[in-house]
Amino acid sequence: MTAAKTLNDVRVRIACAAKAAGRDVSDVTLVAVSKTFDADAIRPLLDAGQRVFGENRVQEAADKWPTLRADFPETELHFIGQLQSNKAEGAAELFDVIHSVDRMSLVKALAKSARRPACFIQVNLGGESQKGGCAPDAVAGLIAALEEANLPVLGLMCLPPLDKEPAPYFALLAKIAREHGLSGLSMGMSGDFETAIMLGASHVRVGSALFGARENH
Ligand SMILES: *Cc1c(COP(=O)(O)O)cnc(C)c1O
Repeated sequence: MTAAKTLNDVRVRIACAAKAAGRDVSDVTLVAVSKTFDADAIRPLLDAGQRVFGENRVQEAADKWPTLRADFPETELHFIGQLQSNKAEGAAELFDVIHSVDRMSLVKALAKSARRPACFIQVNLGGESQKGGCAPDAVAGLIAALEEANLPVLGLMCLPPLDKEPAPYFALLAKIAREHGLSGLSMGMSGDFETAIMLGASHVRVGSALFGARENH
């Protein structure tokens, strides 16, 4: 299948899910997760019109994207991985949106850059220690810290436990966002983005459905 066809298939599925949910398809942003794939694999999606991409490693993105962005300057880059504080300033220079803000020290580190990427606060709803994300009761403090640092707050992000039905986690994230007056919800991946859209996702992060299976990374 060509990249244009694959991309179109995912876009049609997004549109159908939005329609079924009574939502406007323009309220759902497709973040094409290109982690582990090289520039040659990414370029066909750019040629097909995709302009929002997600990466989970700062160095990998810094190696691949400057050249691609020179050809497609309006491309938006989203950081979706766990972010170490010592890489935060570099991430703020390269990325337009950070999906994984989960602690005060990271807000401080991001604020060192002159750039002001928009941010999602990642919430760890399954209490999984190996994953990033803050506890739900830390969300209010992080919103205040981001606002104080002039970093725009888009909403909340989650990554439900792999072995669980994701819908209850998506619904819970939407509820927490509502309680804090946030409208953005970064949730849903290749296996569950339609469910996430039904439950209010504003950003779906889709990798393998667009690029094929990844080597472990
Ligand atoms: C890799 C990754 C994705 C994309 O996963 P797929 O199942 O390939 O769609 C989405 N979100 C995060 C945080 C990821 O690390």
